[in-house]
Parts: sequence; structure tokens; C-alpha cells
Amino acid sequence: MSKIENAYKEIEGIIGSDFITDEDFMKAAYSRNVDPAFPDRWADLIVRPEKAEEISYIVKIANKYKIPIVPRGGGADLVGGAATEGGILMDLTRMNKIIEINEKDFYCFVESGITWGELNSALLEKELTIGIIGPGSGFSATIGGGLSNSTAGFGSTKYGLITDNCLGVEVVLGDPNGTIIRTGSIANKYAKPFCRYGVAPDFTGLFMGDVGTMGIKTKAALKLYPEPQYKIRRNYMLLKNDYNKLFEVMYKCQKELRDCMQDLYVSPLTAVKLLASQAKEKPPKRARIKGPVLLFILEATDERILEIYEENLADIMKDHARPFEWTEVDLTAEQARDWRFNLKFSYTYFNKFISLAPPKISCTTCHKIPISTMAEKKKLSTEFDDSHRDEFPDQSFSLFATSIHLLSNGHCVFAGGFNCDNDDSQREKAMKMWHKRVRNQARYGGVHYWLGESISQSIVESGAYTPEFMQFFKDMKKVVDPNYILSPKKFHMYEYEDDITKYIVKDD
Ligand SMILES: Cc1cc2nc3c(=O)[nH]c(=O)nc-3n(C[C@H](O)[C@H](O)[C@H](O)COP(=O)(O)OP(=O)(O)OC[C@H]3O[C@@H](n4cnc5c(N)ncnc54)[C@H](O)[C@@H]3O)c2cc1C
Repeated sequence: MSKIENAYKEIEGIIGSDFITDEDFMKAAYSRNVDPAFPDRWADLIVRPEKAEEISYIVKIANKYKIPIVPRGGGADLVGGAATEGGILMDLTRMNKIIEINEKDFYCFVESGITWGELNSALLEKELTIGIIGPGSGFSATIGGGLSNSTAGFGSTKYGLITDNCLGVEVVLGDPNGTIIRTGSIANKYAKPFCRYGVAPDFTGLFMGDVGTMGIKTKAALKLYPEPQYKIRRNYMLLKNDYNKLFEVMYKCQKELRDCMQDLYVSPLTAVKLLASQAKEKPPKRARIKGPVLLFILEATDERILEIYEENLADIMKDHARPFEWTEVDLTAEQARDWRFNLKFSYTYFNKFISLAPPKISCTTCHKIPISTMAEKKKLSTEFDDSHRDEFPDQSFSLFATSIHLLSNGHCVFAGGFNCDNDDSQREKAMKMWHKRVRNQARYGGVHYWLGESISQSIVESGAYTPEFMQFFKDMKKVVDPNYILSPKKFHMYEYEDDITKYIVKDD
């Protein structure tokens, strides 16, 4: 029997035959993430464990046969993180239970495969929130995937990343014993999962944004907040397409509206124009589109406070922007007048931007930059695209950002990428350009968040990590995963002895 056949038998003995498969139709169903550059990748085995102890056994077996494991939550990854060519793909969505919602002490403890949809539903009933409503991909992504991707989502302007709100995790390490550990206050076996720091060094951080390279998260403790009952959306269009002015406005909003600014998303001028040109039901009079559109979502627990902040916002905007409604460019676009914000809106909004030029899909290169550098980074990014035009896939469309999201201190996300066809003839070109573009961003000081396979490899290739950092990273991985069985291709980490500096690429 091959090692895969042996592993199949042994894992089946633990989780039962309903939750392991090597059938082609299942491999095909799990073979992709949302990106056009990777080909379909078929795992050897797909497993769906339900308990940390089962995962621990699977890790032991994987170590015995040296079979790689890639964890997968909702599979909504954009950068090749949750699919694998060969090895074991571990679907964690059966681990979807809420262990505790502690209303009095404002924390919850959940299994990592729970979806944002399931958790939000349970919390909203109690007028609670984890602050972030979920990533742009929607409610079927999981908390474990969010923690592994350091997800920014709706709510991140006020509440930060999901990882900023994590109080501790339970993790199965990749070592030959499949060791299970807990971090944060539950590293104290007598304590509840109510705080992150103080028991030991912050080992939670080791697993945040690790894209499944350091362990398999099985449970997570998260902060809770009272869900503010009063919300409004307001749109403004900047009077000029001026990113220094945009910075000034964002800075002022951050300083003066921070308490109640759940979100600030900016749609660059080009994106607004593209959306306007694609609208099926256009208004009879053409809108005067002069600058980027700023979408604010303000929230408060008291209506009077919200009114004050709304006035303050109008005050900040009065010399630089004008109120704007999406119906000025698209009659079917929802009016933004309802005070109680509708959850469906956020996804409709985001997905319009991510699919600006359908039916192609995006090789995304979303990254964070300090807000004071927006004008400079926009210029650098556009110069890169212009000077490499011939190297993009056929009829590809690229933009420095299709949306800009303010985060909870002085930085923002340039969310964007370039699109191409999900077609074998384009993949090589797309993958090459994807890596090159990310290397360029890393070199101008951009910091990414979902790293998956393509982005994490590109950062290594850019030479951004110092040799000392890379050695430290490898040493840490050796402790938690000595055989490098967890997600081996991410960060070009194939084995401990490998010299990672050989993957550095010198670009022109
Ligand atoms: C249209 C669209 C919009 C998006 N918008 C956003 C956005 O606004 N913000 C954002 O951050 N992302 C966004 N994404 C990317 C992605 O959907 C999110 O990062 C999401 O949080 C991933 O969750 P998931 O459960 O689908 O994880 P998966 O895709 O299943 O996995 C993501 C990564 O985490 C690892 N992983 C998953 N679960 C575990 C676990 N339990 N333990 C260890 N490792 C694990 C996987 O190996 C993989 O590397 C978007 C994607 C799409 C398609």
C-alpha cells in the first residue's frame, strides 16, 4: 500500500468513513480558491474532523508518513492559501460550535470553523458584535480563516483586524505528537478566555496571520462589544482627484470622528467612473464625477451622539467634498438613508468593486500603507503598472486600488490587484506578474495581510525579510512543526535546511 493509502485507512479509523475522501469529484470541488492564476489543485485526501483530538491524531499520522497538511476554513482565500496539490486538505467547517457567549464579561469562545454568518446571527440576537462583521467574501468564511489571514473587514476602521480582537486560541501544533496548546488567559488552566496578555509571552500572536503554517487553530476567544443600535451611511465626493487632500480629510476624520466611525471606504475616481459606465439604469443627467467617493458608516449607542458626529462630518467635508448618492450614477444603487444598517449592503458594495471588470477575476494584491503616503504610493504603483504593461495577461485591467479602507489607526488598505481570465493559456503570465507586483509593493514598504501561497512567497522573493528574521521564523517553525508538514509551500518554507535567501528575485 502507498503511504497515502495507509494514511487513509488510519485516519478513517479515527474520524469515520463519512468524513474522509479521495474521490475525484470531491477533490475537484476543493481544488480552487478565488483567483485566476493557480491551476486547479487536487489534494490526495480531504478530511473533515470534528474535534481537536481527531486533528491531533491526523497530524501524528501525517508526520509518520511525511504528508503535508493544508488547513481550510470557508475556502474564500484569494491567494492560493486553502488548496493544495497533493497531501491532506483539512476542512475545518465541522468545528462550528459556540462554546460560550459571555454577555457580562464581553467575550465569546468558539470553534474555529464557525462561519461569520453563524456567529453574527447568534451575537446580533443579543445586541452584541465582535466589531468586525466579516471579510468582503461574505458570511461563509470562517473565524479560523479570518484569524489565519489577519482579516480586515467591515468594522475594521473602528475595531481593527479580527486578529486585534483575539483573546487566545487553542491550536494543534504540527509536531509528531500533534500537541494541543492554548494561549491567552486560557493558558492558565484555571482561567476563563477573557484576556490575552499576562499569563506568558503573547504566544497567540504566533498563530495570527500565519496562514496555517504554525498550527491548526481549533478554538478562538474573541472580544465582544455592544452592537451600537444607531447607524447611518453618508457618501461624499471629493471636489478634486487629489490624494494629498484625501489624506488631509482622512486624517481629520480619524482625529475627530474615530469613536463612531465604523467604516470609511474610498472609491478612487477611476473605479467610480467604471461603475458609472457599467450601470444598466443610468440617470438621464450625467453625474459630475470629479474625485474619489468616500463612504462613511457612522454608529453610536445614542441617537443624539450620532447626530453630533454627523454634523461634525459635514463640517469636515464642507470645503473639500460634496454629498453624493450612488443613484447619481446608477439608478438601481441602493439609497443610503436608512439609519439601521442592512448587512447585505456591505457585501453588495464590496463585490461591486472586486468585480469591476467581469467576468474576469482578480489576482489580488491588497496591502496596507500609512495614510500620509497615499499620494506617493499611488504614483509608484501606477508607474509600475505603466512600465510593465506588456507583462500583464491579455486584456488585463489593473489599478493601484479599487477601494481604499481606512483602518483603526493611521493606515489604510489599498484593496485591488489586476484581473485576468481563469484560463490555462494565461496562468503563467498572470502568476509571474502577480509575484512581481507584490515584490514591488513590498519594496515600497507596503504590508499585506492575507498571505497564502502567492503573496507569502513573493514577500520572501522581494528580499524584504532580513536573514536574521527569516532564520528566527524558520527556528520557530521548527519548534512547532519540525517536519514542515503544515502548508510547506507558503513563505517558500519547504524544509528547515533549505536556504531561503536563494528565492530572492532581483527585479529591474
Ligand atoms: C470577494 C472576496 C472578498 C474578500 N474580501 C476580504 C476582505 O475584505 N478582507 C480580508 O481579510 N479578506 C478578504 N477576502 C479573502 C478571504 O475571503 C478572507 O481572508 C477570509 O477571512 C478567509 O476565510 P476562510 O474561512 O474562507 O479561510 P480559507 O480561505 O479557508 O483559509 C484562509 C487561510 O487560512 C488558513 N486556515 C483556515 N482555517 C485555518 C485554521 N483553523 N487554522 C489554521 N489555518 C487556517 C488556510 O490554510 C489559508 O491559508 C476576500 C475574498 C473574496 C473572494
